[in-house]
Amino acid sequence: MIAGTKISCESLWKVYGAGPAELVREFGGSDPLAFWSYAKARNHIVALQNVSFDVRAGEVFVIMGLSGSGKSTLVRCLSRLVEPTSGKIVLDGEDLMRASPGDLIRFRRYKMGMVFQNFGLLPHLTVLENVAFPLKIQGLEQKSRVACALEMIDLVGLKGREGAYPRELSGGQQQRVGLARSLAVKPDLWFLDEPFSALDPLIRRQMQDEFKRLQQKLQKTIVFITHDIIEAVRLADRIAILKDGRIVQIGTPAQLVINPVDAYVESFTKDVPRERVLKVSDVMEHVSSAARTPNPVDAGATLRAVFDRLAGDEDALWVNDAAGKVIGRITRQAVMRALGKPGSRAFADA
Ligand code: ADP
Ligand code: MG
Repeated sequence: MIAGTKISCESLWKVYGAGPAELVREFGGSDPLAFWSYAKARNHIVALQNVSFDVRAGEVFVIMGLSGSGKSTLVRCLSRLVEPTSGKIVLDGEDLMRASPGDLIRFRRYKMGMVFQNFGLLPHLTVLENVAFPLKIQGLEQKSRVACALEMIDLVGLKGREGAYPRELSGGQQQRVGLARSLAVKPDLWFLDEPFSALDPLIRRQMQDEFKRLQQKLQKTIVFITHDIIEAVRLADRIAILKDGRIVQIGTPAQLVINPVDAYVESFTKDVPRERVLKVSDVMEHVSSAARTPNPVDAGATLRAVFDRLAGDEDALWVNDAAGKVIGRITRQAVMRALGKPGSRAFADA
């Protein structure tokens, strides 16, 4: 576990079937593909194989993989809604595998918020009642429930629709209710399992923006599941690529795009527009100190955001960090190089 880790898993396995534990114990160490066939021949399904990662406090950790790759199993294992076959899960320094049933209920009720693809709203309850529902489960009294639910409804932009029923709302609006409901308990950890996959592309895009806006405000620790690489790079601080229950690569969007570990990862990332993934900080030269500089750009800006200036009269721009300190310089050449050479180590520490 590294400092600042919120939740981590270590050598996590999930095998569905009659006797998964012995299978993993005895044959789990063998070649992953061999184990997969071995388990299959014995009517077991290998959903997760030896999965390890840390999610840092305040980060958006995206798990990306095709349908059936084990994403839902993984996110459910993190809260033990699905019981892992073996492995370790550590939440806030506590071993979740050793938590009592009572502790688990407490964690899920007070620490974790969950959002699902199919929204999961209660059809006979209004928006207000749906959002207040988890607070009722927590045992909060009516007045506080309503106050908190109204705040969340406002937060997700549904003010005025408190009395509506789910069937009276569009898909995007229903998922806003899902977001509000999951946020009502003020969770430290937010799990979202393909929350926007059922929505039309345009609405999905709006919801992604909405999600970014919420996260900027709330700074939760988030595990976000998607099968869509473009969604992944838009939202993630880091992405884990899952294939057949195994993690193939973990990295920032820029790292995956510039240095995919194999052809599988590359098959996803080759279509990602680099100028929207690479940041000024990925491409700049570091400069230790400089006098006051006119019109600096933000180190966190995308290359896309500096195109116009570099396409004009300026050959290079000064770069500031978030605190406004000059930390580098970005040149037109460096930008062109980073965009022009697929697979090259175009930036500092990929
Ligand atoms: P994803 O969310 O990436 O689509 P899942 O985690 O739902 O993947 O599924 C991973 C694999 O585990 C699939 O092969 C799926 O059929 C299998 N699986 C999921 N849930 C169960 C279950 N309750 N019993 C048996 N197999 C399951
Ligand atoms: Mg799933």
